[in-house]
Amino acid sequence: MEEMRPRLRAGILLLRRAGGATYTTSPDVTRSFRLDDEDGSWNALLSLADGTRSVAEIAAAMAASGLGRSESDVREAIEAGVAAGLLVDASGEAPAAAHDALGLYLESVVATPGARGDRLRQRLRGARVLVLGAGGIGSWVALGLAMSGVGEIVAVDPDVVEARNLTRQPYPQRMIGRRKIEALGRLVRERAPAARVTGVDLRVDGPDDLGALLDGVTCVVCCADEPDPEATALTVARACVPRAIPHVAASYAGTVVRAGPFWTPPVRGRRYPCPGCLAAEGRRAAPRPDDVDPDLVAARRAAGATWPTSVVQAQIAGALAISDVLLLAAGRAPAMRGRSLVFDPARARLISRRIRFDAECGGCMIQVVNGSGRRPVAGRPNVVEGGAR
Ligand SMILES: [Zn+2]
Repeated sequence: MEEMRPRLRAGILLLRRAGGATYTTSPDVTRSFRLDDEDGSWNALLSLADGTRSVAEIAAAMAASGLGRSESDVREAIEAGVAAGLLVDASGEAPAAAHDALGLYLESVVATPGARGDRLRQRLRGARVLVLGAGGIGSWVALGLAMSGVGEIVAVDPDVVEARNLTRQPYPQRMIGRRKIEALGRLVRERAPAARVTGVDLRVDGPDDLGALLDGVTCVVCCADEPDPEATALTVARACVPRAIPHVAASYAGTVVRAGPFWTPPVRGRRYPCPGCLAAEGRRAAPRPDDVDPDLVAARRAAGATWPTSVVQAQIAGALAISDVLLLAAGRAPAMRGRSLVFDPARARLISRRIRFDAECGGCMIQVVNGSGRRPVAGRPNVVEGGAR
């Protein structure tokens, strides 16, 4: 308490009303406080608590204001403010931290008492995120995470930059013909020199291909679309669930963006569906051969982009994934846990829906049914007995 320099938690707005009440509320109005304040003491105290004054200095300023509040009144009020999540301790914050928009953003969305922007940014610096795919979505995801201070990014992609990519991927024209992982490494280093980027030149065909890359990973973002987004989402789920690694998938088709669900290990016994559950549902709705013909894939690649799409879809899909990775890395539950977002910006349609466990999912269903965390057999649908829908 002696060393403390209280300030309002980020996201809290102070609204003063005539008639003796002080209202504080968060911008999203998920929490609000009403402080009875007939003599204006709270107003005065909260105005003084700007992170630059110690508790003793606030008490002295309050005494000088003639409001008749004793030092013990002030200490009691500050303790109550901290306990309510209204005030945080700014001692030890770099002077610039109070003006660090990203730190304040994290503080505001994590929104637990004591959560402080500079410490949350520290957590991001300790995070290691594997981004599968460095194309339309993955390139923006890697860039956005690095710009947000995520410490390490592992990007996995076997492709080279092609002229047809440039309408929706951030690569400059001079990088046509270079490996995407190499081009991405350069872009990230220019924007965020503190981020460590590792590029892996690898085509992931099954969960075993990812195995060695998953050690020490905070989470995985699946942005790869070959052979198709559903198949890659299933592959990632099958690799990540047995290792208890959080993961999310993001994709687009035509004008429509799809992101989520974000899988995390069970919390207090509650399990969550994985991207594989949504993928299994999608594959059932539009059946395709289990073994995708490699010649067909090659022919499709040679023919150019199959879907009419744009940088809009790539950036929205990427941004939705970035948002949840930042929440997870900062210590909050991802917003898309158990949910998927489908957004068509060309028609202003947005659907947020709860995802159900799918009995044909080869990812999380293994755990759901036998609880053993047994590693599923790669490349073969897992037979699930009894289904847990
Ligand atoms: Zn699943």
